[in-house]
Amino acid sequence: MLRRPIDLRSDTVTQPDSAMRQVMAAAEVGDDVYGEDPTVRRLEREAADLLGHQASLFLPSGTMGNQIALHLHGHPGGEVICEAKSHIVLYELGAMAALSGLLPCTLVADRGLLTAPQVEGAVAPEVVYRSRTVAVVIENSHNMAGGTLYDRPRREAILAVTRQRGLPVHLDGARLFNASEALGESPADLAAGFDSVMVSLSKGLGAPVGSLLAGSAALIEEARRVRKMLGGAMRQAGILAAAGLLALERGPARLAADHRNARTLAEGLAVRGWTVDPSAVATNIVIAGPPDGDALAFCRRAEAKGVKAVAISPGEVRFVTHHDVSEQDIGDALARLAEA
Ligand SMILES: *Cc1c(COP(=O)(O)O)cnc(C)c1O
Repeated sequence: MLRRPIDLRSDTVTQPDSAMRQVMAAAEVGDDVYGEDPTVRRLEREAADLLGHQASLFLPSGTMGNQIALHLHGHPGGEVICEAKSHIVLYELGAMAALSGLLPCTLVADRGLLTAPQVEGAVAPEVVYRSRTVAVVIENSHNMAGGTLYDRPRREAILAVTRQRGLPVHLDGARLFNASEALGESPADLAAGFDSVMVSLSKGLGAPVGSLLAGSAALIEEARRVRKMLGGAMRQAGILAAAGLLALERGPARLAADHRNARTLAEGLAVRGWTVDPSAVATNIVIAGPPDGDALAFCRRAEAKGVKAVAISPGEVRFVTHHDVSEQDIGDALARLAEA
């Protein structure tokens, strides 16, 4: 029997639907390097307002947003305090070192969530033989810790420390809208107090391409120059921005369904002998240990049965729910995984 594969590898695998393709085809465009693309401008304005920051910049990827922010906050030889499993450490190919001369100061944190005392303890003392701490990065939700969340008290405690130390803080909010849904706080609440915020349009929100970096007008003006330097300035990018506007408009409303589906999946796995705590699944990511402990072999068998997932370590599989996975698909996926 031929089965449509259920793809739970990532929330980046979604396909733009016909409504999204239509707004892309109809987008009003211009040369964005000259500041003449009205659709890009509208997206940048809307995103800035939504995040409660003065300005924002449209970018081809979230990685570029994170790296532009670090480039602007830091200087060569400086240290960036971040969690050990954060995206900027594991999946950006050493870009902070390669592009900006920065060193990650990695802290291992329970559920991937840094605490204020941890951050405070990691700030380098001002002595001549130590590199300076130049920035702190928070990832909300935290991808590789399983979509975990920084709630308000935790954020505010960290921001109090960084303010007191005069340190800029960057928010890697690739899944900020998932965090917003799960915490019941607005995107602006979640972005408040941060010096820069990156959000992805191409994950849970379902756009094919694009991320935004938000911050002060002065920071974003500089970010525009760094984007050009990195080769990330685009021309008639309104075609992509139109998809981004639609993603912002209708994407957040359906994230609650993704979160329910992730919880259902975790519950189903738990009763089938997987190592996972369904009550700890807060957003759209489930990290679970297969019954026989061999994640790689499991993912190969699962793919043959029509379910795609990623072995993120020898004993852990990551499943991500998204726009193109229905409640029905989760039931089907659990049945197929049982066969696997
Ligand atoms: C996906 C992701 C990014 C980077 O996004 P790209 O658009 O793939 O470069 C950054 N941070 C986190 C937490 C992510 O999950």
